[in-house]
Amino acid sequence: MRGRFIVFEGIDGAGKSTQISLLKEKLEKEGRKVFLTAEPTMSVTGGILRDALSGNYERSASEFAAMFLADRIFHNVNPKCGINQALEKGFDVISDRYYYSSFAYQGMDSDIEWVMDMNLNCPDIRKPDLCIFLDLDAQSSKSRIDNNRATVEIFEQTEILNKIRNKFFDVFDRLENENIKIIDASKSVAEVSAKISDVVNELKEDLN
Ligand code: ADP
Ligand code: MG
Repeated sequence: MRGRFIVFEGIDGAGKSTQISLLKEKLEKEGRKVFLTAEPTMSVTGGILRDALSGNYERSASEFAAMFLADRIFHNVNPKCGINQALEKGFDVISDRYYYSSFAYQGMDSDIEWVMDMNLNCPDIRKPDLCIFLDLDAQSSKSRIDNNRATVEIFEQTEILNKIRNKFFDVFDRLENENIKIIDASKSVAEVSAKISDVVNELKEDLN
């Protein structure tokens, strides 16, 4: 039986990394195997993306969108570290960001219909079984980031964080047939974690 594919989304500082590691622990205690992964990946394209995200050189929104698409295909199909191989081996796969981030980030500055179309209609990009959106206001996110990071990426200014948060909601309105759960991430780590467990427990076992 294949594992379940769960994606975490949310603006920077919302608590994705924190909650992903807690969910992994919980699932492993239940006896499940868990495979953690993230975008951008460790592919060559992923490296170029990380460099561009740190502001080292400028890229257009459509270049970002195309590179994320290529990196996401790698993320799905790579036989060593891809999502498909892990699901087939029975691992629950948890990804830190996925195509919803492309829609929100590149959808702001590029043509959102184009970005959504090429991802949603790509035969090698799998639809998640569950997307957990950790929702936090931009001001709180910004203060969590500032307290905890040495360097700040190009998308981590309060005004931009707020625009991206709003864009995520626009994206969720546009999507159909996706299992998206929005969780209030302003609560304590333990409260958010409990909510996440509830929505993960609702997932059916008989996936295909
Ligand atoms: P993300 O991966 O979404 O950027 P992190 O998990 O790295 O977010 O969290 C950002 C910072 O906020 C971390 O230092 C983390 O310890 C802290 N943090 C995470 N969740 C909470 C929470 N519910 N309440 C307060 N601080 C939190
Ligand atoms: Mg993180």
